[in-house]
Amino acid sequence: MIIITDKHFCCGCSACVQSCPKHCITLCNDHEGFQYPVVDISVCINCKLCEKVCPYFNKSEERKPLEIEIAHNPDTRIREDSSSGGLFSLLAEYIIKNNGVVFGARYDKNWDVVHDYTDSIDNLSVFRGSKYVQSMIGDSYKVAKCFLENGNLVLFTGTPCQVYSLKRFLRKSYDNLYTVDIVCHGVPSPKVWRDYLNYINPGKEEIVAINMRDKSRSWSRYSYKIKSSRGMLYDDYAANSEYLHMYINGFSVRPSCFNCPVKNGRSQSDITLADAWGINRVYPSMNDEKGISVVCINSLAGKKLYNSIEKESKPFPLNVFYAENPSFHSSASDTELRDTFWELYEKEGIGAYYTIKKMMKRPLYKRLLHKVFNVFKFDKNP
Ligand SMILES: Cc1cc2nc3c(=O)[nH]c(=O)nc-3n(C[C@H](O)[C@H](O)[C@H](O)COP(=O)(O)OP(=O)(O)OC[C@H]3O[C@@H](n4cnc5c(N)ncnc54)[C@H](O)[C@@H]3O)c2cc1C
Ligand code: SF4
Ligand code: SF4
Ligand code: SF4
Repeated sequence: MIIITDKHFCCGCSACVQSCPKHCITLCNDHEGFQYPVVDISVCINCKLCEKVCPYFNKSEERKPLEIEIAHNPDTRIREDSSSGGLFSLLAEYIIKNNGVVFGARYDKNWDVVHDYTDSIDNLSVFRGSKYVQSMIGDSYKVAKCFLENGNLVLFTGTPCQVYSLKRFLRKSYDNLYTVDIVCHGVPSPKVWRDYLNYINPGKEEIVAINMRDKSRSWSRYSYKIKSSRGMLYDDYAANSEYLHMYINGFSVRPSCFNCPVKNGRSQSDITLADAWGINRVYPSMNDEKGISVVCINSLAGKKLYNSIEKESKPFPLNVFYAENPSFHSSASDTELRDTFWELYEKEGIGAYYTIKKMMKRPLYKRLLHKVFNVFKFDKNP
């Protein structure tokens, strides 16, 4: 049975919860707002299915992509709505046109982030764009399995641990399943996200739009925008945002992301998408600042799906991808001040960020800021 003794060894994927034949595992929030499984021992029959599906008990082999390209969606409007080149939408449209369903992360009516599915091209827009919050997976694996057993095409998209956990949950391969993951720096706490939204919106105005990857200024120096029915609540470069600083400095990141079990192709996804941060090293004239994706084609199924879509693309060197997208192969680094941040957070909420900023000696603060600009390629003009 699963007992979490070290939070660096549970990514909250819920594969154990959705697999348990006795339904005796519940996900409970910890003080950081992350969910962890808790077993009702009085009901557990010690079948160990939860351990068989857990990504930390069952790591797969590292895998190099078969091919790497950079590509973008020819539809500029969709590309502008997407975080990088809008490849997710092209792949998803193909699946839906072939009577399939697409799973991904969206905001719910309270602006929390949840996993959901659609069979409609018009509804795909809600899945577009990166949401820097851990998505609540709900019973998505069980629902995906129903569609798969029913013979529908299924495209499951999400973080690498969500994709790998779906595969562990299914415990057999399906010809009608395609999986797409994103290169993942880590996921921030849903509690910090909720507190931040309240902090940025003290008047409790109705929020009508949120974009954590707004490209209207530029793609590589993207902005955050939070809009209420009465106007803009936040509209600035993401690099200036407290929310991004808490994320990139590791304060709000899930502990398991410092010990990610699925780096370097271990997620077994068919396709991996990322921002083509290395574009200027290889094809500088292609960078129109509207966003370009790196596409790792990891399997023959992925190649078949990728070859079915109309896109603008070019081959891309593996070494540049590895160098410019370190989150593909390496976990985020833990920070020495994370525990202090959470001690302060208990008393001060989001204010903890400002306290810790003051506490940091200047060289350390400078070092952390340098990290923000490096990971998000803001180093030229923050
Ligand atoms: C939390 C997070 C961290 C990332 N870190 C990096 C990084 O370090 N380096 C890098 O190159 N790229 C990173 N990306 C990926 C990148 O920003 C783009 O999402 C990716 O290139 C796909 O872009 P797109 O334009 O094709 O599609 P888009 O329309 O932008 O992508 C939407 C896709 O992202 C998924 N998605 C969005 N938010 C979440 C979420 N919270 N949980 C699970 N799935 C989600 C949707 O389900 C959908 O599949 C990250 C994305 C997220 C969500
Ligand atoms: S050992 Fe079996 S019954 Fe017990 S929690 Fe795990 S899956 Fe459920
Ligand atoms: S990593 Fe997933 S399967 Fe493993 S214990 Fe955590 S929630 Fe359960
Ligand atoms: S960094 Fe790894 S453990 Fe964390 S959300 Fe991403 S894939 Fe999951």
